[in-house]
Amino acid sequence: MKITEILRQEQMSLSFEVFPPKKETTFESVREATEQIAALRPSFMSVTYGAGGGTSAYTLAVAKNIKDKYGVPMLAHLTCVSSDRETVRQRIRELKEAGITNVMALRGDLTPELEQTDRSRWDYRYAVELIRELKDDGSFCIGGACYPEVHPESPNQREDLRRLKEKVDAGADFLTTQMVFDNNLFYNFLYKAREAGITVPILPGIMPITNANQVARAIRLSGAFMPQRFRAMVDRFGSDPQAMKQAGIAYATDQIIDLYANGITNVHVYSMNKPDIAAGISQNLSAILGRSFLE
Ligand code: FAD
Repeated sequence: MKITEILRQEQMSLSFEVFPPKKETTFESVREATEQIAALRPSFMSVTYGAGGGTSAYTLAVAKNIKDKYGVPMLAHLTCVSSDRETVRQRIRELKEAGITNVMALRGDLTPELEQTDRSRWDYRYAVELIRELKDDGSFCIGGACYPEVHPESPNQREDLRRLKEKVDAGADFLTTQMVFDNNLFYNFLYKAREAGITVPILPGIMPITNANQVARAIRLSGAFMPQRFRAMVDRFGSDPQAMKQAGIAYATDQIIDLYANGITNVHVYSMNKPDIAAGISQNLSAILGRSFLE
C-alpha cells in the first residue's frame, strides 16, 4: 500500500522507524525486534539506510521480511550522495522486485571522506535529483526529509524552504521532519511551509528519549532544541533507567497527543529497534487511536 493512501485517510496514523543491522551477525536480533514492532500493526514502518550505503542489502531484507510476514506497509530509505548512478539504479530495481513501493529519498550526510572528494564528479549532490529519478520511474510513492529547525548546511529557513519546495515540485508526495522535542517548532514550521506553497502531508518525527545517554547523541545528530521541560526530565530521572524509560515514553506520548489534538493526523515515531518503547507509546494511545495494540 502506498503511504499517501494511508495519509489521506481521516483516522489518525502512527508509524514507526527501525534501522537495519550493521553486520550479518546482528541480523537475527534486528529481525526479532523489528518483527515485534510490526506485530503492533502500526500504520506503516520505515527502515533507514546506513550512512554511506554500506548496509543497503539489510534495509531491503528487513523491509521485505516485515511486508511479507506482517503485511505492514513499508517505507525503505535510500540515500544517494555517496553512491554512483548505477548503484542507485540497482537499488531501485531491487526495491521494485521486492514489492516495496514507498521510498524515502534522501541525500545522506556528507562524511569527512566524501567532503574531501571532487564534487563535480559526484553523480548526485542533492536529494532532489534522486526524487526526480524515482518520479520518472513512476512506480513509487516518494517521501522527503525536512527540518523544522533548518538543515545545518542551509544559510537560513527561507532558503531551506525554497529547496524543500523544489523537492515537492520534483515529486515528493509527503515529508517527514527531523526529530522535534518542542511541538511549537513543528507548528511554526508547518505554517511557514504552507505559506511557501508546500501542500503535501508533513509528518512530525517524534524521538522517544528513554535513556540519558541518548540525549547527547540526539543533539549531535539533529541539533534539535531541548525545551526546559525536557531537560528537567532528563536531570531528574536520567540516572534511574526504569524511571527515565517511563518518563521518556510519557513525554513522547504527550507530544503525540498534543499533535493529534491540534489536527495533525499522521505522526512518525523514531522507535529505533525498541519494541517495548513502541508498545508503550501505542498502548498509551489505544483509546485515542481506537484499537488495542496488545497481541
Ligand atoms: P537535501 O534535501 O539534498 O538537502 C541538503 C541540504 O542542501 C539542505 O541544506 C538543503 O537546503 C540544501 N539543498 C537542497 N537542494 C539544493 C540545491 N539544489 N542547491 C543548493 N542547496 C540545496 N540519513 C541516512 O544516511 N540514512 C537514512 O535512512 C536517513 N533517514 C532520514 C530520515 C529523515 C526523516 C531525516 C529528516 C533525515 C534522514 N537522514 C538519513 C539524514 C539525511 O541524510 C541528512 O539530514 C542529510 O544531511 C540531508 O539529507 P536530505 O535528503 O534532507 O538532503
